[in-house]
Amino acid sequence: MKLVLKFGGTSISSPSNIRHVANLIKSLSKEHKIIPVFSAVSGVTDDLIRITNLIQNRNKEAANSLAKKIIKMHVDVSNQCAKNPKVRKDLANRMKTDIEELEELLHGMLLLGEVTPRSSDYLISFGERLSINLIVYALNDIAVKAIPLTGKDIGIVTDSNFGGAKPLMDTTRLHVSHTIENLLQKRIMPIIGGFAGADQHGNITTFGRGGSDYTATIVASSVKADEVWLMSDVDGLMTTDPKIVKNAKLIKEVSYVEAMEMALFGAKYIHPRALEPLVAKKILLRIRNTFNIKNPGTLVTATPQADTRKTVKCVSTIRHTGLIDVRGGSMVGAPGTAATIFSVLAKAGVNIMMISQSPSESSISVIVKKNDLDKAVNTLEMNLLGKIIKKVDVTVDVSIIALIGSGMRGIVGVASKVFTSVAKKGVNVIMIAQGSSELNLAFVVKDSDCNAAVQALHDEFELAKT
Ligand code: ASP
Ligand code: MG
Repeated sequence: MKLVLKFGGTSISSPSNIRHVANLIKSLSKEHKIIPVFSAVSGVTDDLIRITNLIQNRNKEAANSLAKKIIKMHVDVSNQCAKNPKVRKDLANRMKTDIEELEELLHGMLLLGEVTPRSSDYLISFGERLSINLIVYALNDIAVKAIPLTGKDIGIVTDSNFGGAKPLMDTTRLHVSHTIENLLQKRIMPIIGGFAGADQHGNITTFGRGGSDYTATIVASSVKADEVWLMSDVDGLMTTDPKIVKNAKLIKEVSYVEAMEMALFGAKYIHPRALEPLVAKKILLRIRNTFNIKNPGTLVTATPQADTRKTVKCVSTIRHTGLIDVRGGSMVGAPGTAATIFSVLAKAGVNIMMISQSPSESSISVIVKKNDLDKAVNTLEMNLLGKIIKKVDVTVDVSIIALIGSGMRGIVGVASKVFTSVAKKGVNVIMIAQGSSELNLAFVVKDSDCNAAVQALHDEFELAKT
């Protein structure tokens, strides 16, 4: 098989984990053509983003010392990745070159005291620039020929939407397949840094958080891989959060659309666009555990097997969100009210996670992240209170509970089952939304009721029975 393996940050969070991953790749490469893609070491992207904030706040010392911490960590780890003296020397040189570039960039940004979307992407792409060196030399150390390549190196071309770039797939496919096939023919393993590509002018761009998943699927579609494995530190997608329900089970198979819904709910965060490149070519995706390779994980496919087609496949939660309810008589029958409310929130940079409006049109409820709540309420009050809206009510600390499964489509009685079982636990439902795709039924409860509701639903739909 031609296999694209994407390893998350926790898979390479220590020298021993890196050696473990190198051995795993080596053993898999005896049977398959392996094309590995890597995230940054865990925590590094967060730190790099923190540095951009520090630069903006002109906190030069803190920015420098955080950068030093990142550099020191990579140097320390690199000293333990390889035993062979020649390999160690090569690694040290390679690291030195990349670190110098990072330091130069940081120096420039500090001098200007300015972070643009472009310089930010350049800076935060360094997590992957550095991590792939560690893997390459750990592989060289065990006699696997491999070289480090960034998204730009392999030819991933994107638009110039920094921080949330999209690949220009036709160009990308040509470049990437050419680069990768060439290397594979020479029996050199490309070790690809995820998360970033470059626009048509050569500026580094990133795909947004979790973007290495996207890199993996872009590469897979370019080289017509048989499968993509997303390797992390969990066994796969679960029927619910095992911290809430003890007998939560691993889900064996889901469809692409179900996986997309589940990913958005963050059970195992997957980049929201990552499945797109796979769908057209029907490339299989597996979600697997680097540290428990015996477990087959979750298979994501176009056509899950019949016996895995339950009505509801999982109960997901988004904890600790805030609910805002806006009311006003003048909202009734007035076209543009919803648009005004949403654009005011959008201008303030508030992301809306869930919406519901009653047909009487006298109230609209939205759910936002807890961190956005103050900003959202302020901007609504400043811009719209006394105009189109009369009242803004806020409920802090609510949770979204979502049932996901394509088997719900067209099945009568799912909602009644859901709300009856929740009511039996004395849980009050504050808000409800169901997309007409019927893939996802979501409702909102007080966070203190969340565990009881999730447990009740997990029991009701017998999700522990596989
Ligand atoms: N390193 C990037 C992040 O943390 C990309 C990734 O891990 O997929 O978001
Ligand atoms: Mg990551």
